[in-house]
Amino acid sequence: MKKRMIFCGLLLGLVARTGWALPPVLPTVPGAAPARDVSQSQPAMRDITAAEVERTGLLPADIELLDNPAYKWQHLQTEHFILHHDQKMFAAKVARLGEQFYQAISADLPQMKDRLSPVRSHIFIFRDARSWKAVVANTPGLDPWAASFVRGPVMYLQEIGTGTADKMGTLAHEMTHLVFNRFLPIRLPLWLNEGLAEYYGEFAYRAARGMGQGKRNAFRPLARWTPLTDLLHATSYPLNTDPKVDAVGQFYATSKYLVGFLQLKQPMAKWDEFFNRLLDGDDPLTALLETYGWTDIAALEKVFAQFVR
Ligand SMILES: [Zn+2]
Repeated sequence: MKKRMIFCGLLLGLVARTGWALPPVLPTVPGAAPARDVSQSQPAMRDITAAEVERTGLLPADIELLDNPAYKWQHLQTEHFILHHDQKMFAAKVARLGEQFYQAISADLPQMKDRLSPVRSHIFIFRDARSWKAVVANTPGLDPWAASFVRGPVMYLQEIGTGTADKMGTLAHEMTHLVFNRFLPIRLPLWLNEGLAEYYGEFAYRAARGMGQGKRNAFRPLARWTPLTDLLHATSYPLNTDPKVDAVGQFYATSKYLVGFLQLKQPMAKWDEFFNRLLDGDDPLTALLETYGWTDIAALEKVFAQFVR
């Protein structure tokens, strides 16, 4: 789930050129093909009729939305997605970048398979604030601040933001959830799920455009963060009970910074080991502390505090 516009400020100040993407989540297979140049690929897409839309994997609520004549859906199909939209220009951009993000994010899962292939994921695109409100109201368990979200293999994407980078950052965030849902047989802890989505949301769009950036520069000092005990144990999003404190925004930021800390300041071999333990079904918190050698959460918070300073 993507919160409305929290990190737009961070997208400004990113300058230095580096390579693309997260280091591999899992060890790269020796002799494997080099990563595809995502900036060059031009995914195939075609308009399809409503009758041609595959419905495998859709929930009753998805089908109801798809069949609702008020939306006047048009349908665009790519290798991995069927997009439902009412404006071709934005949908074509989502289709093209969506496929590029899919390639880039799945390239970081080199030893894993897309478990749903060849079934395509659906992307519903909303450009009208009123219809988005209706979707949020009709989705049980969804927090009212949700700007876009993924449920299983289906993405509900709202076109919001002032510029292409904002909009495509949201797409990259949601695409991370979608790809992980398709590839991983496990559910990641909330902080890791949102932290990775924020991490890709920040970097994937510029990378797909061939615009590199210094990742380290994206992690400017963080004035406030969610206490790591709360973050690491969280199974639901925090409540914004105090109007002066953006608890939800802090939760997303802290999750992203913790992923950045593990990715940029710790050995990649540890990340691979940690991720493999998650895939084996180990308790995430135990796996995190044991793999990185922190005796407890306080020990982690001590080094994390230096990173965010
Ligand atoms: Zn999310």
